[in-house]
Parts: sequence; C-alpha cells; structure tokens
Amino acid sequence: MEIKDYQLMIFDVDGTIANRDEDRLLPEARDFFKLLYQWSAVATLPKLALATNQGGVGLRWWMIDSGWGNPDELPTLKSVEERLRAIQQQIPLPTMLYTAYAYQSQKTREWSPVPMEYVGRPEWSRAWRKPNPGMIQQAMVDYGVADPRRVLFVGDQPEDEGAAVGAGVAFCWVKLFWVKVPEFINLTAVGG
Ligand SMILES: [Mg+2]
Repeated sequence: MEIKDYQLMIFDVDGTIANRDEDRLLPEARDFFKLLYQWSAVATLPKLALATNQGGVGLRWWMIDSGWGNPDELPTLKSVEERLRAIQQQIPLPTMLYTAYAYQSQKTREWSPVPMEYVGRPEWSRAWRKPNPGMIQQAMVDYGVADPRRVLFVGDQPEDEGAAVGAGVAFCWVKLFWVKVPEFINLTAVGG
C-alpha cells in the first residue's frame, strides 16, 4: 500500500480524523494532511474526500416527526454542517465532503423518514448511509476516478469496511493507517 497507487483517498470522520462531537482534527490527521500539503508542491497526490454517517440528524427528525424520544439530545442539521465544515477547513488541500443523514434502526431495520424539503437529496438517501457504498461511488464520479482499485478508504468501523467492500475499493483501518504513514508516503516513489 503506497500513496502512488491511489488517485483518491476518502476518510471517515468520527473516530478516524476527529473525535465524535469535536470540531478539531486529531493530531495524527493534522500531521498527515500537513505532510500531504507540503509534498503537493513536488508530487501528484491523490484527491481527498470525507464520507461520514450523521444518522443522528435523521433520528432527530424521526423523533420530531413522530413525537417520541428526546430530539433535543441529538444534533441539528445546522450544527452538524457547521462542525463538519470546521473540520474540512482544517485540511489544507481541497477536500470534498459527503454526509449521510439517513438513520436506520439497528433493532427493527426501519429507516427514518425524510423531511419534505430534502426528499430526493442524496444526503438523505439510504444508498449513502454506510455500509452502503453511495458516498464512495459519488466521490469517484465527482473526481472522475473510474477504477475502484485506485481508491483507498480509511475508517474505524465495520460499516466503513462494508462500504469500501461494496464499492470495490481498498480499505485500511485508521489505527493501522497512522502507523503506516511513513512507508505509505514515500516521496521518492511519489515523485518518480
Ligand atoms: Mg467513524
């Protein structure tokens, strides 16, 4: 696994590049993106994207729509957008952001309803919620990457691995990824 093998790298957010509910990059992620930025001056590097499930937004709407539970304990769409934008802005290279707001009950497998104004929006589609591969596939379309073997997805949960498998792209667990960064980024290989 070397950076020159990939045209696109996609990262999960929570538990991968940031702690859940925090709006700062984890130190490992900050250092990695800084390194990429420095080397982007001399090498062609993979494009970057983030792909994150934010089902709390869908669950919150489900509670409001159906009048149960405690929606105030869950994040609003606006607060999630603001947090993710703050994280995105700490990455010093262009980075597309894909967010899945749909929620599926693990117990009943039922899906949250979609607010009227968002019906038909991919962010609220079931296809985008990992382990479904929709966000990865959309990033490949947006960046014009046709070969899934040239895409690496980095995440911390089984649904991340499931989405990568579903899209046919390479997957790396984040803990292993940070350990492998020095060999992954091989400037000689990238520049050559
Ligand atoms: Mg995660």
